[in-house]
Amino acid sequence: MPKQELKMSEIQSIGVVGAGQMGRGIAQTAAQADLDVYLADVDLKTAVQGKEVIAKGLQKLIAKGKINEEASEALLARINPVDGIPSMHDLPFVVEAATEREDLKAKIFKTMDEHIGKDAIFASNTSSISITRIASTTNRAEQVIGMHFMNPVPIMKLVEVIRGVSTADDVYDKTIALAHQMNKATVTSKDYAGFIVNRVLMPMINEAAFALMEGVATAEDIDTAMKLGTNQPMGPLTLADFIGLDTCLSIMEVLHNDLGDPKYRPCPLLKRLVEAGRFGRKSGHGFHAYG
Ligand code: NAD
Repeated sequence: MPKQELKMSEIQSIGVVGAGQMGRGIAQTAAQADLDVYLADVDLKTAVQGKEVIAKGLQKLIAKGKINEEASEALLARINPVDGIPSMHDLPFVVEAATEREDLKAKIFKTMDEHIGKDAIFASNTSSISITRIASTTNRAEQVIGMHFMNPVPIMKLVEVIRGVSTADDVYDKTIALAHQMNKATVTSKDYAGFIVNRVLMPMINEAAFALMEGVATAEDIDTAMKLGTNQPMGPLTLADFIGLDTCLSIMEVLHNDLGDPKYRPCPLLKRLVEAGRFGRKSGHGFHAYG
């Protein structure tokens, strides 16, 4: 971790809403940091399936000798799938990591506000949506903050912390402390669309999609060019497949709508692929095909 003053977290248990690739990663990383985790999705079955995917991932780590059976079991024992947000009523901190759609997040935050104790802090893992707008759907805007983990969460060191207009100082401090407890380094961003990482990353991915659409080069060559020519660990189209093309498109739409600059216009090819259900790795096909 880069040199940062580590803050102690008082939080012992968290809720995670959304058991997709990010929610699972957050749950696993929190459990690894000795936090008790309560994991929800659209229903209990999906939350249980989320925990099963985490267990499969841990089996792979055991096979590689990166974790032992005992540690894996202890970690899994701390992850509790639950049947919806009301089951999180007494938790002090809940991270929302559901699908990147503002209407959906608004609904989830409203439900959290109705069912979870009034002192609890709500963090959104949104990649781009305004934390201030999400906060305004609750009656506790000062207790709402952005906590943007990177994918894959157990591996990537960074958490971007985003303060909404009303976020209180102690809520910010507690969030930083929680991120440190989860062994992450933090940066702080103001609440402008895309924050830091996606403000810079997504236009590059979108431009790679335009280059592909215009026939500048093949997907393989665009990725190889950026990998070997700019020293990125993976090319932008491979990275887009990894993030999820639906998520990339949503982020570009938020940048375009919120910042109003035509340079953020989502690439039509990106839109077409999402319409075709080609979401990237998670659906088996995006810019590239996966076995
Ligand atoms: P995903 O599609 O893998 O998972 C989303 C999950 O949300 C699904 O399991 C879905 O069933 C669940 N969900 C939908 N509606 C719900 C509801 N009403 N209540 C509870 N759960 C619900 O998506 P993801 O990649 O995990 O992204 C989740 C969030 O994390 C998004 O806001 C995204 O922008 C953000 N994010 C994604 C990445 C990335 O690389 N994929 C990186 C950082 C942040």
